Amino acid sequence: MRAWTATALPALPGAGTVPRIHDQATDTLQPAATGDTARLYVCGITPHGHTHIGNTATFLAYDLLVRALHDAGVTVTFAQNVTDVDDRVLAVADAAGADWEDLAAEQTREHLTDMAWLGVQPPDRLVTVTEAIDQIGQSVLALIERGHAYRVDSPDGAEEDIYFDVSAADSALACWTLGEESHCTRDQMLRLFAENGGDPKRRGKRDRLDPLLWRAARQGEPAWQVIGLPEGRPGWHIECAVISEALLGADFDVLGGGRDLVFPHHELAAGEATALNELPMARVYSHTGMVSYRGRRMSRTAGDQVPLARLRDAGVDPDALRVAILAHHYRSDWEWQDEELARAQERLAGWRAAHRAGLAGGDHAETADNPVLASLREALARDLDAPRALRVLDAWADSPETPELVARAARALLGIDLTKEPQP
Ligand SMILES: [Zn+2]
Repeated sequence: MRAWTATALPALPGAGTVPRIHDQATDTLQPAATGDTARLYVCGITPHGHTHIGNTATFLAYDLLVRALHDAGVTVTFAQNVTDVDDRVLAVADAAGADWEDLAAEQTREHLTDMAWLGVQPPDRLVTVTEAIDQIGQSVLALIERGHAYRVDSPDGAEEDIYFDVSAADSALACWTLGEESHCTRDQMLRLFAENGGDPKRRGKRDRLDPLLWRAARQGEPAWQVIGLPEGRPGWHIECAVISEALLGADFDVLGGGRDLVFPHHELAAGEATALNELPMARVYSHTGMVSYRGRRMSRTAGDQVPLARLRDAGVDPDALRVAILAHHYRSDWEWQDEELARAQERLAGWRAAHRAGLAGGDHAETADNPVLASLREALARDLDAPRALRVLDAWADSPETPELVARAARALLGIDLTKEPQP
């Protein structure tokens, strides 16, 4: 599927440093690239509801990463999936009496519009699950052949479902161990597995944590034919194991997503990917914090959330939304307050006024060691510290020298346009 169109990044003098970002598996900061290329995969949307501030905070974090890597002279290949067929998509469509394909297509379209509006750097490759069914099916067959997957009788008369054998993978694979990425105890895993689409109580499974790889067709559910498998559809984790490998190869640099993906999604996708390739899925497992609203974590299906489309329709300045979100470090958990947008708009207006005042002031010599540019680069290089980068702009606005360079740096590194004129 085609992603949205990229906005051009202005050129800056010199080069930034490759950011070091937090790795869940080692609990250390690791370089996001180890050479002049980086391969990044960020788990994409499940299009069963609006994209909200919580999702957006995640996508903005990796937008900063892409920008910082680009500034460091690294060529980034960025890939993403869209989980367009999934239990949640089917359930929401069913409840609304809508066609699941229409729901997924409509919510995906809205998401692409949201991301373009916000100026997020698009993935180079965006692949939906329904586009990758055959590849996923072939991988499920390969896992069965290698003894990493098995068939389980369906209680409701459907054909057999296929499950990934976590214990077999754990003992057979040199570079994957259950718990190595998430550091969860077995009890925590069982709880998270049950809360996130897993079926620990399914009879016939070898281990309660074994995830579904392929679900045989049920009455009224969409299904695809892959020779060698019952007519059916993929489970959740296998899609990212297969799509990421197809687009980036194994052992890519950064696997990213919200912290709710640490377990089961990223840990089990990594197990499945390793069982397929005998290589680690990724070098760095990166996660963003959770955003709540009115005391509850934002989710696509919760009533209490802030859809981006609503802000877009209300004529909100997308840069103000960026400032509001980037004021929180990407790894922190935080609560969205409606007043934040007005505060961010005011902060942004201050920087824009400083930019105009600076332009009127004269001397605009530009050098790579410009202290504001250096400080912005330094802030992003240390685990994408956007709040610190915004404070650098606050300090600059008190004495706005080199306004043209600072405006270009704000646009290239933070996606914030300081040159916009105030609204009449
Ligand atoms: Zn994923």
